[in-house]
Amino acid sequence: MQPRDLSGHAVYQAGRGVEEVARELGLDPDDLVKLASNENPFGPSPVAVEAIREAAGSANSYPKASHADLAEKLADRWDVASEQVWLANGGDGVLDYLSRAMLAPDDRVLVPDPGFAYYGMSARYHHGDVREYTVSKADDFALTADAVLDDYDGERVVYLTSPHNPTGGRFDLDAVETIATETDEQTLVVVDEAYGEFADAPSAVDLLDERDDVAVVRTFSKVYGLAGVRLGYGVVPAEWADAYARVNTPFAASEIACRAGLAALDDDEHAEKTVETAAWAREYISKHLEARTWESHANFVLVEVGDASAVAEELQHRGVIVRDCTSFGLPECVRVTCGTEAETERAVSELAEVLADREEERTDHEEEVSG
Ligand SMILES: *Cc1c(COP(=O)(O)O)cnc(C)c1O
Repeated sequence: MQPRDLSGHAVYQAGRGVEEVARELGLDPDDLVKLASNENPFGPSPVAVEAIREAAGSANSYPKASHADLAEKLADRWDVASEQVWLANGGDGVLDYLSRAMLAPDDRVLVPDPGFAYYGMSARYHHGDVREYTVSKADDFALTADAVLDDYDGERVVYLTSPHNPTGGRFDLDAVETIATETDEQTLVVVDEAYGEFADAPSAVDLLDERDDVAVVRTFSKVYGLAGVRLGYGVVPAEWADAYARVNTPFAASEIACRAGLAALDDDEHAEKTVETAAWAREYISKHLEARTWESHANFVLVEVGDASAVAEELQHRGVIVRDCTSFGLPECVRVTCGTEAETERAVSELAEVLADREEERTDHEEEVSG
């Protein structure tokens, strides 16, 4: 007995966890600074934590009222109908629902390279074929309509990440609109705004009034600090919003998740602190490292370090975990998540030392060779 041929399916490579690294290095998890997975350094909103505690007692019930209430609350926020809000098990769950709703076997999708791995994974699970468009480093990872359209060839779904992971750049809404207009009528443009709250820019949800070929993905994992409960949502055009009822896993988001989400949406203070600290940290990281960085609109900064795997490893021994971007196809870069002020300062000073040590070794070596 064997599963179907899964050789074309990649395994998702998550950032490394604190416990995992602490155990491996024999360190105390409390001494580690984890800036590898773009999680919220302040933890979940305390209001959401309280809601989770309270919801524990009703964990025996299927989530019905809470699911409906959350969809409605989000619909109010975005000024859409509640049917247009597709709740799911994380933003990743939304990507799956969109694949289920859009893809027939052998349909092609267009994903960014470098980019978030799950777009292609989800498409493959749904028997789709994956093509890539290049987000070119030579072009400073600029996210333009041309970068996408140059590689577009009638794919059924085109994925845009804005702000982009792992580079931090973003698409202007004009570019999104151009892409949606220039692609076929039956091509859906998915705008993944997992980091949307960190960007000082309008959401592509604004385009849904006029268009039926753009869908937006959002998550509670990042700014709301609820990555562990798994909660995300799509905002889709009214024209085909009813497809949700035909593709969703029953009770797509848990009672605990829905209650946490409802509470988190009311905690503006936590969200604002998170966004402000990320903005401070982005600037701090770029300013205080003598390494190339790219302007970020998210809660992380991409840093060119030479040999990312070696640098990430050395940093880890110093108790700082960052994301080696080799699996993104950028073996010379690490991605550093914005931490609290103290975490960010520590990460930057350790990284600066690692880079300085390596530079010194390199010049010593060069002198030896030429000397
Ligand atoms: C984190 C992230 C998501 C969503 O993650 P979930 O935890 O599944 O909500 C989606 N897209 C990108 C680009 C991300 O970085």
